[in-house]
Amino acid sequence: MFITRFAPSPTGPLHLGHAFSAMSAHDRACREGGTFLLRIDDLDQSRCRPHWEAQIFDDLGWLGLDWPRPVMRQSTRLLRYRDALKMFWNQGLLYQCSCSRADIRAAASAPQEGAPLHGPDGVIYPGTCRPATPPTGAMPEEAVLRLDMSRACETLSTPLIYKEKSETIMPRNLPQTVGDVVLARRDMGAAYHLAVVLDDADQRVTHVIRGEDLADATQIHVLLQRLLGLPTPAYHHHRLIRDEGGRRLAKRDDARAIATYRAEGASPRDVRAMVGL
Ligand code: GLU
Repeated sequence: MFITRFAPSPTGPLHLGHAFSAMSAHDRACREGGTFLLRIDDLDQSRCRPHWEAQIFDDLGWLGLDWPRPVMRQSTRLLRYRDALKMFWNQGLLYQCSCSRADIRAAASAPQEGAPLHGPDGVIYPGTCRPATPPTGAMPEEAVLRLDMSRACETLSTPLIYKEKSETIMPRNLPQTVGDVVLARRDMGAAYHLAVVLDDADQRVTHVIRGEDLADATQIHVLLQRLLGLPTPAYHHHRLIRDEGGRRLAKRDDARAIATYRAEGASPRDVRAMVGL
């Protein structure tokens, strides 16, 4: 069985990098006689817009991709995410954090700390709000909740392990190299790392194909799978499409939006050639 997915957030136009990612996953699913899924990562409702979602469907259809419908949407799955958070809370693996980004930067770069260390989510959380013993009582609503990474790692009876392309990877020292990641954001109920893990599992995704900008986040996902008793898919992080200056494309790069190339008369074949497929 081979199931893969493309999971864009409808927060702007899809660009050549998205086209490459979606076509790589779709091509691979076709070769393997498997299934390609489209998922709409619309957890951050403050940034998602219906017209961007409509354009995702339109652009991917124009590129010749096909997927089963209806598609999964994160905004309909908040209860699922909440249930997983409650389980972690009851296991004493979460705590509430009231630090702002500025607080974190300041604490992490305090003179006695040396240069701030960076993990997959940016500056590694210095642990300001981490309690000495797990919090008791009901899980707070509309709060930032962090995973106590040391405690979480202590619950594992065997080392983490996963496959990246044909390599076997064993992440180590997560409390030092990743830190206490955010699993619930105040405004969104859940955070990306938790949602993506539950979505991939519920969609029975066997192969995650995505950009190498997410390679470092994979260890967090594999840890969460273990804590939740979910299977770990195989991972393949592909090269990123860059502009002439070597910068990776972003949603603001309208000039490289698929819709722009379409409007200028390019064909799906031209787009394939532009990204080296
Ligand atoms: N919505 C995420 C993104 O666009 C998906 C990440 C993933 O594929 O896991 O970056």
